[in-house]
Amino acid sequence: MLLPKFDYHAPGSVADACLIMAEYGAKARPIAGGTDLMVNMKKRVVCPEQVVAIGDLAELRSIAGENGVVRVGACVTVSELAASADIQQKISALAAGARALGTPLVRNRATIGGNICSARPAADLPPSLMAYGATARLAKAGGERSLPLGDFFKGPGLTHMAPDELLTGFDIPVPPPGAGAGYINIGIRKGQDCNLVNVCAYIALAKDGAIETARVVLGCVGPTHLRAPSAEKRLLGEKPTEALFAAAGKAAMGDCTPILDFRGSAEYRRAMVGTLTLRTLKMALKEARDRS
Ligand SMILES: Cc1cc2nc3c(=O)[nH]c(=O)nc-3n(C[C@H](O)[C@H](O)[C@H](O)COP(=O)(O)OP(=O)(O)OC[C@H]3O[C@@H](n4cnc5c(N)ncnc54)[C@H](O)[C@@H]3O)c2cc1C
Repeated sequence: MLLPKFDYHAPGSVADACLIMAEYGAKARPIAGGTDLMVNMKKRVVCPEQVVAIGDLAELRSIAGENGVVRVGACVTVSELAASADIQQKISALAAGARALGTPLVRNRATIGGNICSARPAADLPPSLMAYGATARLAKAGGERSLPLGDFFKGPGLTHMAPDELLTGFDIPVPPPGAGAGYINIGIRKGQDCNLVNVCAYIALAKDGAIETARVVLGCVGPTHLRAPSAEKRLLGEKPTEALFAAAGKAAMGDCTPILDFRGSAEYRRAMVGTLTLRTLKMALKEARDRS
């Protein structure tokens, strides 16, 4: 299948890319790794007249730790994310999401920014980024803003970014001592498959061992990635036990709206939300205790 016709721009900086986006607005699309955009252009799902290449911009390609925050550029590839010692040690559930994404070929091209801007409800990176409380940094000609990732997604394939905005990166708070997270995804096959359900759980323990922060994020079971408020409420202020985590898993099953498709039934997906919530909470607790 051939690509539709388009003009190709290769700006030398984020500022230049923003000027091009300002000029063409909704007629332009940034391209980072192209693993989603190219497929969607070939299928004529999107036909941008202008394609703006941002994947090689050095400003968007670094991972840096400062003042308790890890800053990840939008065009860091998924392979680079998975291999980063900083990410593995401090933001381990994001490294797990990166390892789970696609195949080596895809991971070498795909970027963290593209994974978020695609806004697929089954994507591998949003659950961990949301669970760690990450903020997205956005830029356009004449302005910048930050948006908590929990407020970023509007629906399948839709975000709250303006057509002339670029995602430049993420600020991810480093979990304090006594906090940890876990990520699990399941699909029909091990690789090269769309997720059936994915979950990330994050907890922070108070000095007395009770749970003082809890975030449970569910993927594939709603129009966007969802927080599980009933599960989080069940956990807060309690001492962690297997029974508590099982109860939180049960509560999470009521927080989602799975659909039936050829990959699996709504009942199966809902049941897996319970199971994966329990398992990721156990992973989060282990890491929280190891890091305290
Ligand atoms: C074979 C295959 C397997 C896959 N497996 C998985 C998987 O297991 N898990 C998973 O989550 N995904 C998977 N994907 C989807 C895809 O690889 C990821 O979503 C990837 O992270 C997209 O990143 P990219 O850089 O290639 O995005 P691109 O294709 O370059 O862009 C995707 C969209 O985001 C926009 N965009 C990109 N960067 C920016 C930016 N900085 N600012 C504003 N807009 C931007 C583009 O305009 C486009 O609309 C798979 C894709 C393929 C082809």
